[in-house]
Amino acid sequence: MSSKPDASRPRAADTKKVHIADTQMTRQNWYKHVNWLNVTFIIGVPLAGCIQAFWVPLQLKTAIWAVIYYFFTGLGITAGYHRLWAHCSYSATLPLRIWLALVGGGAVEGSIRWWARDHRAHHRYTDTDKDPYSVRKGLLYSHLGWMVMKQNPKRIGRTDITDLNEDPVVVWQHRNYIKVVLTMGLIVPMLVSGLGWGDWYGGFVYAGILRIFFVQQATFCVNSLAHWLGDQPFDDRNSPRDHIITALVTLGEGYHNFHHEFPSDYRNAIEWHQYDPTKWTIWTCKQLGLAYDLKQFRSNEIEKGRVQQLQKKIDQKRAKLDWGTPLDQLPVMEWDDYVEQTKNGRGLISIAGVVHDVTDFIKDHPGGKAMIKSGLGKDATAMFNGGVYYHSNGAHNLLSTMRVGVIRGGGEVEIWKRAQKENSEYVRDETGQRIIRAGQQVTKMPEPIPTADAA
Ligand SMILES: [Zn+2]
Ligand SMILES: [Zn+2]
Repeated sequence: MSSKPDASRPRAADTKKVHIADTQMTRQNWYKHVNWLNVTFIIGVPLAGCIQAFWVPLQLKTAIWAVIYYFFTGLGITAGYHRLWAHCSYSATLPLRIWLALVGGGAVEGSIRWWARDHRAHHRYTDTDKDPYSVRKGLLYSHLGWMVMKQNPKRIGRTDITDLNEDPVVVWQHRNYIKVVLTMGLIVPMLVSGLGWGDWYGGFVYAGILRIFFVQQATFCVNSLAHWLGDQPFDDRNSPRDHIITALVTLGEGYHNFHHEFPSDYRNAIEWHQYDPTKWTIWTCKQLGLAYDLKQFRSNEIEKGRVQQLQKKIDQKRAKLDWGTPLDQLPVMEWDDYVEQTKNGRGLISIAGVVHDVTDFIKDHPGGKAMIKSGLGKDATAMFNGGVYYHSNGAHNLLSTMRVGVIRGGGEVEIWKRAQKENSEYVRDETGQRIIRAGQQVTKMPEPIPTADAA
């Protein structure tokens, strides 16, 4: 479809032969694995710029211009290539599309068509072999390796880009890509500082080459850093993460866990205090009448994802705690046996039909030794639940860790019904772990039991 190769595009595969990327790299053939065109653009040229910077003095005006042009071209990628074309998160008028196609081209990251196609594959096949820049292959691979080393284009997951083929701006930019890159990447930044304040060479080196280098490295961080550093507030089954550092580096693309969950939202940051200049740019364009149909997920949907992830974290924490042996795994004791064992000196206490061995706890009992001893060998359900003292939630939790058996028949309560409740689906998390809620312990009576002593 394209007559000219993209700046950082993997070369087309020879369909008859085995693709070089699918062969073992050896000392003899390593150079065949390297994509030299991309190496030139993303390593060689920046290196040349760094060397030239040694004898080209940096003027203040040129420095300011380089930073401004960094933002223009960077936003061309984030607001244009990424959020407009790859994700259709808003619609843009023709003048804005032309502007974004031009400044985005100045970032030297391939044509919109190629970039958006790979990016859609990245979202569809995140972390798999079909992901063009899967972080599972290493941080360096996701940052640069996927461009520096040849890739078999057949491996990359297929995506639909018919909408992009229908956008004349995208098609025009793809066909004229080399001209766009040279003009917007090097000539324009040089012309501005040359005609503006006579600094032709400085404009070429700083606003051109070195600015390209910084924009490239910054946006590459979305593929590497944003899949490696930070939190996962919405879903932790894949690698995307949220982090302020990534956001600062990538003009707001750092809330990547959110972005992978809600890719067609024009925002990456949803909190007012988070840094997302790309979002602010799109919003400003809307106020200027250049952008419209800004897409946003309902906060109801966003919060659902957040709650589910929180729930998962809570489940993991809960699973690490000792909640006591489940009732249905405890041995059944006859009442007489229970009484007999206490007489023989074992510190057993029955509460709500569950027998607890408190021998080692008697000395630590906050209510004193005498009080706890008075319940040994008896049914202490009422005593524990307000008859003598209305025990705390913490006390019920602690008690459950001392369970050693259940009384046949259940004592004062219908213990087996309770065991069933403790065991039911209703009180289990998604991994099958029991959820013992505060106030729902089997030893807990629904209402405190008032007696004359307690009043
Ligand atoms: Zn990603
Ligand atoms: Zn994306």
